Order: sequence, then C-alpha cells, then structure tokens
Amino acid sequence: MHLFEDAAMVEVVDEDDRPVPAGVWGASVLVTPFHNRLQPLIRYRLSDELRLSDERCPCGRPFRVLDGLKGRAEEYLTLPALEGGGTIDVTMFVFHIALLDLPASGQQVIQSGNELSIRLERHRGPMDEAAFIRQIESALHDAGARASRITIDHVDEIPRGPGGKVPRLVKRSEGAPESGSHGGPGSSPGAPTDTVAWIPG
Ligand SMILES: [Zn+2]
Repeated sequence: MHLFEDAAMVEVVDEDDRPVPAGVWGASVLVTPFHNRLQPLIRYRLSDELRLSDERCPCGRPFRVLDGLKGRAEEYLTLPALEGGGTIDVTMFVFHIALLDLPASGQQVIQSGNELSIRLERHRGPMDEAAFIRQIESALHDAGARASRITIDHVDEIPRGPGGKVPRLVKRSEGAPESGSHGGPGSSPGAPTDTVAWIPG
C-alpha cells in the first residue's frame, strides 16, 4: 500500500529516530499531518513497524510504498479479502494517516461485521466526506481488503478510555447471533460487545 504523503509527512525511523532506507524495518513511524490545524501534531509517534519499498504503487500515485507492515495485534481488523473469498487482517495503520490529518478532536474506527463507521468528534470546517471515504477505500484496496460499507459519524464526544485517550478501534459484535442460544446467563441480548485498542504514546 502507498503512504498518504499528500496528507502527512511520514518518517519511518529506527530506535534512535533516524530515518531507515527502503528495505529496512523501522522501529516506529513519525507522522506530521499537513491539514489538521485544530490539533496540530508534529512527529506524532505510531508504534507500527514499517518497511518501505523502492517500487512505485500499482495504483499510479507517486507516493512511497510499504512492502511490510507490522501493527499491534489488537489493532487489526479482519475484513473480506479482495481475492480468494476469504478474509484478510488489516492493521489500523491503513487508517491512521488519513484520520490524523482530519481536524477533529477525536477519531475512531468502529467495525461492525464488514461495515466500518468512522467516528469524528467535533470535526471543524468543511469536509469532503465522499473523497475521504474513497481515500479509505483506496487504502483498504491497496491492503487487499474491502469493507461492505463505510460511513462517517459526526459526534460531540467519543467516550475516553484509560488515560483519557480515545480508543482508535472498536470492534462491535452488534446483534451477532450467539451460536445455538439466545444469550446465556449474564448476557444482555442485543448489547454491543466492544473490543478496543489504544495507540500508545
Ligand atoms: Zn497506491
């Protein structure tokens, strides 16, 4: 997949924050979004380990391309694969750069089955939602995955997790039928079961 280098400066760095060349695994990523003036971030650290490629993206965009990506286990979404009919694990990094570039006070991806809802807290200014959704679709496509639906949900507040951070990913098994039963003792039918993940740092 390519990096959204029109949305942010992306530095793949080693443990001493020195840039690593193509073909070498970085220890983390420093992201400086260009358009997020509400909450400017400078060299915001993401814990994803990336490896850049020397090659061009097949989609034709001029941005640098990743040939390797290791995210944190709890920051993976499982989505339908574009080919082969199975599923594919996609790390949250697919969304991070695009999300960090949005002038909102909080951003969150909610997965319900194969549908994704991008929750934006107090987003300021105009937003081309269709273009943003296309950007996410393109990133998923590059990662070999697709979502059956992507929507934007503007909210006043996203509930904070530990340390006051917004969980970046919520996996919601909403209304998922429990196999062979209608909910055992202690379960409340229809209540969403959330699994959440935080970006450290
Ligand atoms: Zn591309």
